[in-house]
Amino acid sequence: MTLANRAVFLDRDGTINEECGYLNHPDRLRLIEGAPEAVALLNRHGFKTIVVSNQSGVARGYFPEKLLGALHDKIQALLKAHGAALDAIYYCPHHSSVGEPPYRQDCECRKPKLGMIHRAEIEFAVDARRSYMVGDKLSDVEFGKRAGCKTILVLTGYGKGEWEYNREKCPVKPDYVAADVLGAARWIVNDLKNREQSPR
Ligand SMILES: [Mg+2]
Ligand SMILES: [Zn+2]
Repeated sequence: MTLANRAVFLDRDGTINEECGYLNHPDRLRLIEGAPEAVALLNRHGFKTIVVSNQSGVARGYFPEKLLGALHDKIQALLKAHGAALDAIYYCPHHSSVGEPPYRQDCECRKPKLGMIHRAEIEFAVDARRSYMVGDKLSDVEFGKRAGCKTILVLTGYGKGEWEYNREKCPVKPDYVAADVLGAARWIVNDLKNREQSPR
């Protein structure tokens, strides 16, 4: 298998949609301003756009897994209205110590483990080393770095607090800090141009 595709992996809560603690009903869903334009821009430049989201609220019993299906349908519908589409929305419903099996398990898919990246390698022939990870937590940055991606921290969601108060504690630095996901997408498109001009 040749891993040929570039992806932009996107965290969900605080990156694509407004962070509101545990998002437990479709009526609470609000996209972050510029998110549809960001996804459309990445679509146009040939990136696979793949959400990678920890959703331990399922394991914790806060909401059923089927709610995630309803939320993700709504996200795709809101994006589609702007001509944008996510190629996939991956999530981890597990937690290693809370709830009951099968959701209580030490899985391979909960970030910062790389299970969701490995799934994208198989399903979309994504090369993580040519890809990007965008998220609002420094743990998203660590996750992306471990996978070999370039990483962007957005200042929406938890991002501003993470950057202001926690960055000294974080062993890795993002390649870029963006105001929001649209800023991240614009930086990525520009970075891709530089990469294509000079062979890595
Ligand atoms: Mg987040
Ligand atoms: Zn999992």
